Amino acid sequence: MPRYPTTQDLTQAEVERYSRQLVLPEFGPNGQRKLKGSSALIVGAGGLGIPASVYLAAAGVGRIGVVDEDVVERSNLHRQTIYSEEDVGKPKAKVAGERLRSVNPHIEVEPYEARLSSANALEIVGEYNVVLDCTDNFPARYLINDACVILGKPDVYASIFRFDGQASVFHARKGPCYRCLFPEPPPPDSVQDCAVAGVLGVLPGIMGSIQAVESLKLILGQGEPLLGRLLLFNATDMSFNELRFKKNPQCPVCGRDPTVTSLIDYEAFCGVRRAVPAVREVTPMELKDLMGRRGALTVLDVREPFEHALCRIEGSKLIPLGELRQRAGELDNAADIVVYCHVGRRSAIATELLSSLGFPKVRNLKGGIRAWSEDVDPTVPVY
Ligand SMILES: [Zn+2]
Repeated sequence: MPRYPTTQDLTQAEVERYSRQLVLPEFGPNGQRKLKGSSALIVGAGGLGIPASVYLAAAGVGRIGVVDEDVVERSNLHRQTIYSEEDVGKPKAKVAGERLRSVNPHIEVEPYEARLSSANALEIVGEYNVVLDCTDNFPARYLINDACVILGKPDVYASIFRFDGQASVFHARKGPCYRCLFPEPPPPDSVQDCAVAGVLGVLPGIMGSIQAVESLKLILGQGEPLLGRLLLFNATDMSFNELRFKKNPQCPVCGRDPTVTSLIDYEAFCGVRRAVPAVREVTPMELKDLMGRRGALTVLDVREPFEHALCRIEGSKLIPLGELRQRAGELDNAADIVVYCHVGRRSAIATELLSSLGFPKVRNLKGGIRAWSEDVDPTVPVY
């Protein structure tokens, strides 16, 4: 439950630090004490999570949790602006935690170098008043939503795609949840992440800042939250639009007769991974070995054409994942097929898709072209 002490006094240093917001009638000393006694969980220390967490730390939210299992990559730096060149390779949660502490030494910061999962979500989410969904994938969004519904917490959501952003506040006790708006996840082979689709670096800065504003409003109990409203932002024509939506009485998690009452397997739910059968894999060394033998072998690249132009396994055939279902007829059903992408996620989906279409000898290249470059052919550039 929220703990908003009203007796906790502010030190002189805090009064000075927060003076520009203390003069706002919506804040005042009581608002500032509410922030100090509150906590926010940032799930995903990436493009959205970084600006959101920096503003919440600077504003004086007393305890901030940051969950991320990834390490900083050079391709993150154009949008995840608290990381610098020397952070490449270091755990994001750890680096973000250190930076937030230096932004504001009066707050507590709790880094979690882990992936939020069905096994740990209730425990971690349960520790915080407000949860910010700063993730980039559907299993995580459904997981965060369901954990928030079960625990009665608000879920401050945003997502980005190329030049478009969207944001909303889900809070099942007061309005609709994420599943009321999106009952079904999209088919996995229709989803593209930032690595494939690209993203304007400033865009997550704008959407993450909107998440910070909504979180502060929720903690302060001020203003009209984005509850039941999906904000749609387009940077190309600089437009903001709004879609209103209602609680779905048949919602499987927050409706009248919920069928989802505990956390489930979200990757299976989103079709990203099915428990059975597991996708068959080959390592880069095994693929090299296969390529040296006789026999029909197709090495299939399911990345986008610009990635294929950047680097490829020699002799591989390009069919981007989004076109694979229509173009599967171009492949030889009798051949061994090894599918690859950048790091092995899209190709796992493609492997499963081809198996379901009746290709008997299809396998996924473990670790993608990146692992191929590391283990077999260092002349292939890493991106
Ligand atoms: Zn719902």
